Order: sequence, then structure tokens, then C-alpha cells
Amino acid sequence: MKRLLLSCLWAAALCCATAAQAHAEWVKRVTDGIMGTRIVVELWSEDRVQADAAIDAVLEEMRHIDDSMSTYKPASEVSQVNDHAADGPMKITPELFDLLVTAKEYSKITDGAFDITYASVGYLYDFRKHRRPTEAQISKALPAVNYEHVILDPKEHTVRFTRKGVRIDLGGIAKGYAVDRGIAVLQARGVTRAFVSAGGDSRIIGDRFGKPWMVGIRDPRGPPGSVITRIPLTDAAMSTSGDYERFFEEDGVRFHHIIDPHSGHSASKVRSVSIIGPKAVRTDGLSKTAFVLGPDKAMEIYNRIDDIDAIIVRLDGSVIYSKGLEQLPAR
Ligand code: ADP
Ligand code: MG
Repeated sequence: MKRLLLSCLWAAALCCATAAQAHAEWVKRVTDGIMGTRIVVELWSEDRVQADAAIDAVLEEMRHIDDSMSTYKPASEVSQVNDHAADGPMKITPELFDLLVTAKEYSKITDGAFDITYASVGYLYDFRKHRRPTEAQISKALPAVNYEHVILDPKEHTVRFTRKGVRIDLGGIAKGYAVDRGIAVLQARGVTRAFVSAGGDSRIIGDRFGKPWMVGIRDPRGPPGSVITRIPLTDAAMSTSGDYERFFEEDGVRFHHIIDPHSGHSASKVRSVSIIGPKAVRTDGLSKTAFVLGPDKAMEIYNRIDDIDAIIVRLDGSVIYSKGLEQLPAR
């Protein structure tokens, strides 16, 4: 009798275990505070414990990127570079080196609109405190803004600034990079369907079982949650930059967090730009361009780049699409 009861219990336990294993589900976690933004990770998983461990690993990777690349952290590698690279060549990690190479590549393809040395002037702005530099301060700092001042030596893995006053900031590319790293962490664990985002930068692997993911593009002047359109995405990245993200207004003029490297002023030629492409580091890096160059010149550049598409909301609220998206309906 006892033996029969035991074997029944054993069978029930086995049954439960099988049921737990077969209980596949979407697992989602939202975390605030890494890289000063909201991180969302959602994945399809057949094992809740493994899913949670995979999300933990993504967040750990993002914390590492924040620690190494934030200019708000004096001990970060980027802060160290800003403190010392004008004194001579500095050895840096392969990770930072490769990202600096990528950043310079984006400067070249955007005619200098994307430029991480914007920070030589950019550090004088404080959007939270509504503080901006005077014209005299801008003119003094501006000569240090030029990506050509950043010299990278691939043999020695060093970086050097050609003059004092140069500062870099990877805020225009680091979130996209972190999203790509998050996706890589998930792929290494065998995840095949997932969504990862950091603020306005997101990337997707796989689909939602025959359906694409639908990612909304916010209406720049609409109430929170309103969108101008939703984009169906599968195995793709999308980044949106908007003038509503971090800004303040003074006498009706909007000052926001994308800086024109040529003038040192807030770059205000569009309201928002969304880029769709294969990787989030690329879509992030390219989404600043239209703010600086204006919608027409930027769209010309976007249409020239094979692996991306773009949606621009112009200053009058009208929306324009790159060639690959012209059929997309507004909704
Ligand atoms: P988010 O920080 O929400 O991802 P964006 O992708 O629009 O927003 O990037 C804006 C950030 O890009 C700014 O906060 C700043 O760190 C950086 N940035 C501003 N102007 C430039 C520029 N001309 N080139 C490169 N990076 C820039
Ligand atoms: Mg971004």
C-alpha cells in the first residue's frame, strides 16, 4: 500500500515536472535606472528559471556598459579617456576601441552630423537644470569639436586627442550598442524570440509565431502613448530620437539634447527620426543626423545607405519615409 502511494506520488511529480517544462510563455521584465533609462527585455521561454537567468545576464551586461561608458561616472573608462587622452596615447579595452572606430565611421557617413566630440561643447549644457552655455563659451569650446581630433591606433589599441579641450560622449550610440550586446547574450543562451530595448533603442530576434512585433513611433507632440504609426518588425532594430526626450524651452525656443557639431547649438531641424536597420548600434548612431542636417539632406543620406530605412517627423508635423517604406500607411 505504502509502495503504491509512493509510486503514485512519484508519477504525479513527474507529471508536474513535464507540465512545467511544457509551459512555454512570454517572459517580460522592465527595469529602470541602467544608463539612466528604461530597459525592457521580453523573450519566449520554455523554462521560467532559465528565462529569468537570461534576463539577469542581459541586465548585468548593460550595467557593465554603463560603468565603462558613462560620462556621469568619473571612474568610467570614457571619463578616464576624457581626462588623459590629450596628454598622449592611452591604451583602451578592445570593446571601447571598436566602438570608437564605429563612431568615427558614422561621423564619415553622416557628413559629420554624428560626432562624439560634440561633448566638448555638450558638457556645458544641463538639460535637467535648464542650463545652456553663452555664445562666448560656445565659441571658445567649439574648435575642440571634430571627430578628426580622435586618433585611434589599431596596432597599439590606443586613443589620443590631438588637442586639449576635446571630450567624447557615447550617449548617441551606447544604448544601441547595449541593446545589441543584450541580444547577443540571449542568443548565446539559445533564445530565438526576443525583444530588448533601452529607451528609444530596440532590437528584435525572431517573430511572434508567424506575426511580426509591432513597434510604435511616438507622436512627438501628442499625449503620452499616442503614436503616428506602428512598424512591423522581425529580426531588426529600430531607434527613435525625439526633441521631446530631454529639453527645456526659453522664450518659445526649444533646447534639447542633440547638438549640432558645427554650431554647438541644439539641433532642431526635425521633431523626430526613427531608423530601422539590422543592428541597434547602427540605428542609434544614424538617428541623430536629421536633427543636424534637416529632413531633405538627411533623407538623401538615409536613402543612400543600403541596410537602413527612416521615418522623419518634420517641424510642421508632416511625416516622410525613406524609399523602402513609402507604402507604409499612417495610423
Ligand atoms: P537617447 O539618449 O534617449 O538614446 P538619442 O538616441 O536621441 O537619445 O541620443 C541623444 C544623445 O546623443 C544625447 O543625449 C547625447 O549624449 C548624444 N549626442 C547629442 N548630439 C550628438 C551628436 N551631434 N553626435 C553624436 N552624439 C550626440
Ligand atoms: Mg539612442
